[in-house]
Amino acid sequence: MVSSYLQLIENRYGEMLDEEGQEFFAYATEGAQRMRRMVKSLLRITEITTDTRPLEPVDANTVLKDALSDLELKIQDTNAEITANELPTVQADPQQLTRVFQNLISNALKYSGDDPPRIHVDATRTGDVWRFSVQDEGIGIKPRNTAKIFNVFHQLHGREEGAQGIGIGLAICEEIVDRHGGRMWVESDPGEGSTFFFTMPAPDDEGEEG
Ligand code: ADP
Repeated sequence: MVSSYLQLIENRYGEMLDEEGQEFFAYATEGAQRMRRMVKSLLRITEITTDTRPLEPVDANTVLKDALSDLELKIQDTNAEITANELPTVQADPQQLTRVFQNLISNALKYSGDDPPRIHVDATRTGDVWRFSVQDEGIGIKPRNTAKIFNVFHQLHGREEGAQGIGIGLAICEEIVDRHGGRMWVESDPGEGSTFFFTMPAPDDEGEEG
């Protein structure tokens, strides 16, 4: 409603505004759009926490492929090199796991610094869970911020450093991993890169791998 009325005012009275007025107006419009995106994202988090769809065996290679095809344009634009080892089958919600890969890889593309992004995806079995990693060679994160970035609306980097979102991607990832009974964290060397880790349960019927 705020956006619609701002649009209406702009159409009808826009020409009466001087340059400064138009500048203020642009801020208001941008603010209303941002607010809409924030509310939508919060709703998405609520959807994840209340989701009751059962988890199923999911081939993480397929899920990664889906995530990459959604990011295809960004990958081409940034000249990124993305590699992955053979990934396991895990007990998951396929759409949600796709979302986790999408958000992590999209961040690795965004916060890559000056060189073309180089990203590597891997998974290691530890006990009855698989630990996935998404590693980049980007701008990195200072140790004091590594926990904060998972908070809703928390952003460290400004628009000039590549931030286009609203600081909710990682909160969504953490919520999804949490719903799967897993854990998520990041290890980073500022200036050298970051590796995001998350764990997912192995399918019930799968024996220990040697
Ligand atoms: P957004 O990307 O929309 O700002 P996120 O929740 O995905 O929100 O990320 C929160 C913040 O964490 C980002 O604004 C950025 O400062 C930092 N961040 C996330 N991923 C990376 C990464 N791969 N390298 C460096 N910083 C990152």
